[in-house]
Amino acid sequence: MEATPKTTEKMNPFALAQAQLHKACDKLGLEDQMRAVLQQPVRELHVALPVRMDDGRVQVFRGFRVQHNDARGPCKGGIRFHPEETVDTVRALAMWMTWKCALMDLPLGGGKGGVICNPKEMSARELQQLAREYIRQIYHMIGPDQDVPAPDVYTDPQIMAWMMDEYSRLSGYYCPGVITGKPLQLGGSAGREDATARGVIYTIREACRHLGIHPKGATAAIQGYGNAGAYTAQLLKELLGVRALAVSDSRGGVYAPGGIDPVAAVQHKQRTRSVVGLAGTEPIGEQELLSLEVDILVPAALENVLTGDNAGNVRAKIVAEAANGPTTLEADDILEDKGIFVIPDFLCNAGGVTVSYFEWVQNRSSWYWDHQEVYERLDSRMTQGFRQVLATAIEAKVDMRIAAHMVAVQRVAEAMRLRGWFER
Ligand code: NAD
Repeated sequence: MEATPKTTEKMNPFALAQAQLHKACDKLGLEDQMRAVLQQPVRELHVALPVRMDDGRVQVFRGFRVQHNDARGPCKGGIRFHPEETVDTVRALAMWMTWKCALMDLPLGGGKGGVICNPKEMSARELQQLAREYIRQIYHMIGPDQDVPAPDVYTDPQIMAWMMDEYSRLSGYYCPGVITGKPLQLGGSAGREDATARGVIYTIREACRHLGIHPKGATAAIQGYGNAGAYTAQLLKELLGVRALAVSDSRGGVYAPGGIDPVAAVQHKQRTRSVVGLAGTEPIGEQELLSLEVDILVPAALENVLTGDNAGNVRAKIVAEAANGPTTLEADDILEDKGIFVIPDFLCNAGGVTVSYFEWVQNRSSWYWDHQEVYERLDSRMTQGFRQVLATAIEAKVDMRIAAHMVAVQRVAEAMRLRGWFER
């Protein structure tokens, strides 16, 4: 068996995912045969996608679909359209999806897809052709009982609608359960839009309970003001009474000692494309925001934000990782030494996939739930997931990230064992 890979800052994301897996396997004392299966995707397909562009020439795009593990059910995971997509990023994200679904106890495995393209430079017609060609090429690998994609970076409900339509045409029947994140009119779920942020809030509420922090009147700083960050700011205020003192986006950050109005910030960003310049605020730099003296720091933008260089400056009591992979391994150790409570990404941001699972369930039964039902079921799953990870962290004397991996890996290993994968 290979030794645990050595980890460095900004390492290849797949190597990082493998290193995290090996750490959890060491703690669990998992057999080598388990690691050998879990450290690689069970299946992956590389495709070439010819698309006739608006100027008449044919451009060939590269794409991937990776299925990391399907021991607990059909694979689940988004499709990214990104100019810098790599198969290793897709492999890492597929593995993290396996853990996320297992941690939330969803009857699903982990997958991910990607196409190397720049959607910002493509027309709607070109994007539709690309989406349909991608589905034609991966058709035999996906399906409601096989692998269920969803939106991710630079893909949206409209693209999901085209993909669902293409799959339905090839199948010869209407098949909404093949993909989630669809528009409401085509079988999307109530509550999907702010599901990730709502899940973030439920885990913050549980962390506050554990640490004895009263959320009402507590303060936060949020990096990133897109889907995850902006809804988190609004719901922190609405559901917990937490004030965000600083928020930021790719153009800069703003600070207000009395708290930022999260709805005004959204409206300002819609008008000007940034939170910068919001009335009643002053500018704040990225590193300053990350080291603000607040109760809760929410990275909700990018990977590798908290590193060995700046983690020592963090003064928050809780780091709630709404983003995927915002903390490097080195930063993790520093935060732990400082006694900062980290809610790890695949627990903290699991609200999105959980409501995607609800969408799939509703599609399969053709019975649709209202917002209240979605929120209650989401709260129950997130709270259970949080408490399970916390109990494991306390019992095994490990940090929350290793504990989350231990819970998830254990569940997947158990499913493989029960299915007899090592006895054939
Ligand atoms: P998004 O594109 O809607 O928003 C990203 C935000 O980050 C934008 O406001 C952008 O301006 C900002 N940003 C980019 N660079 C920045 C920088 N250097 N400093 C500050 N802000 C910066 O994306 P999203 O859906 O909100 O996703 C954000 C993170 O949350 C990603 O890591 C994503 O994987 C993760 N996530 C999102 C969901 C979901 O359902 N949206 C689910 C799980 C995980």
